[in-house]
Amino acid sequence: MPYPEISRPSPNFTAAPAHERLGVCFHHSVLDFDAALARLTDPASEVSYHCLIASDGTRATLVADEHIAWHAGASTFLRRTRCNDFLLGLAFAGDTYHAPLTAEQIASALEWLAPRWAEHGWTPERMTDHRQIAPGRKDDLAPAEWARLLVAIGERFGCRPGR
Ligand SMILES: [Zn+2]
Repeated sequence: MPYPEISRPSPNFTAAPAHERLGVCFHHSVLDFDAALARLTDPASEVSYHCLIASDGTRATLVADEHIAWHAGASTFLRRTRCNDFLLGLAFAGDTYHAPLTAEQIASALEWLAPRWAEHGWTPERMTDHRQIAPGRKDDLAPAEWARLLVAIGERFGCRPGR
């Protein structure tokens, strides 16, 4: 049964050039779902993700995949900087250092990933989190929660991390 998907358009994106969609950077928002949506749709924040997932699995779409959401800042992945150009931003509402991801959040993320995984030919190596691409500057996700998520991705998409 699919999780609800709602539209909460954010003004905080770059429309061109088209997003490259080479993989996904996962985040947590620290703020709860409603407070995060208020911030992410405020032009003054200059922050957005493509999608934010509530603790009950509800997904809010903020920026279309083909546009560049402003989620990663100064970062490096695949030996490139400007990760916003090629990594989609998927965020979990809350703070993974204080509360683990809910089963619904993980299941909803897998549901969001599924059609994109096939379309873009992703592998687990194209999945990362903000902590790993901006070390010392950002700490999301908590390492144990990232590990849980990566195992779930490997199980869902038929491959194991590190192989
Ligand atoms: Zn982040």
